[in-house]
Amino acid sequence: MRIDLHTHSSVSDGTDRPDVLVRRAKTAGLDVVALTDHDTFEGWSAALAAGEETGVEVVPGVEISTELRGHGVHLLGYLVDPADRALADELARVRADRRTRLARIAAALTAAGMPLDVADILTGSPDAATVGRPHVADAMIAKGYVHDREEAFAWWLSVGRPGYASKYAPPIGEAIDLVHAAGGVCVLAHPWGREGARRALGPSSIEALRDHGLDGIEVDHQDHNPAARRALRGLAGELGLVITGSSDYHGTGKADHELGVNTTAPQEWERLRSLAKDARGG
Ligand code: AMP
Ligand code: FE
Ligand code: FE
Ligand code: ZN
Repeated sequence: MRIDLHTHSSVSDGTDRPDVLVRRAKTAGLDVVALTDHDTFEGWSAALAAGEETGVEVVPGVEISTELRGHGVHLLGYLVDPADRALADELARVRADRRTRLARIAAALTAAGMPLDVADILTGSPDAATVGRPHVADAMIAKGYVHDREEAFAWWLSVGRPGYASKYAPPIGEAIDLVHAAGGVCVLAHPWGREGARRALGPSSIEALRDHGLDGIEVDHQDHNPAARRALRGLAGELGLVITGSSDYHGTGKADHELGVNTTAPQEWERLRSLAKDARGG
């Protein structure tokens, strides 16, 4: 059983359409794949239909932008009810602020000598229900300002760089509550993947999130080195948290994140499923 619980399609900042992503998951030998686009459920129906066709089990998921002590933290939600109003409204709020943020980023890049407007960004990402900095990077590539997303982030779009702008995100505790109220389970995405988030997510912070109801942590991720994986695995064991491993696939948008490059053990996936059943009250 090969299980990959974190992937992105062109509905957010991946480059494959959701149905194409599921076909690629089949080719990659995956039995279970979760679609976890940023802040939207938009790709679910196409992915689930492709799952029916190919025999790959598609898990509906979402990667929620949240905030903890001023740092952006990503929370994976699985098996939530998409009709739950409170969660859907909060995600809509995040997506709306991401749109107004594009104008702030475009203005900052223009001031830095790289003329860009919001229309340039939106025409280059017609499928995206959720827009983000990777789409800005793609527009910069199209204009010949940078060679790839990596270069765009390193010089212009990362925190502290001239083209960075913050966005609205709910406090992580609130997001955990919303996921549970919508009948789902939540896993902390790549907790030690980026310096900022790593500072905010020391062992005591993760313990506090566990006390708040966090269900699991993503241990095996390309942004975690072997020492980080060992430490997080130990911590998850002590705290009784589910351990996942996933690719965080973005198509051609991110190198070294091929489908199935990290996987989740079947018994850990089973734990998440039964916790989701409990969240739904049976
Ligand atoms: P945003 O959602 O607009 O804040 O942008 C963050 C997203 O950009 C993350 O979810 C990653 O998918 C992507 N990202 C972050 N750093 C890089 C990078 N160095 N190269 C390519 N994509 C990146
Ligand atoms: Fe992403
Ligand atoms: Fe993420
Ligand atoms: Zn992701």
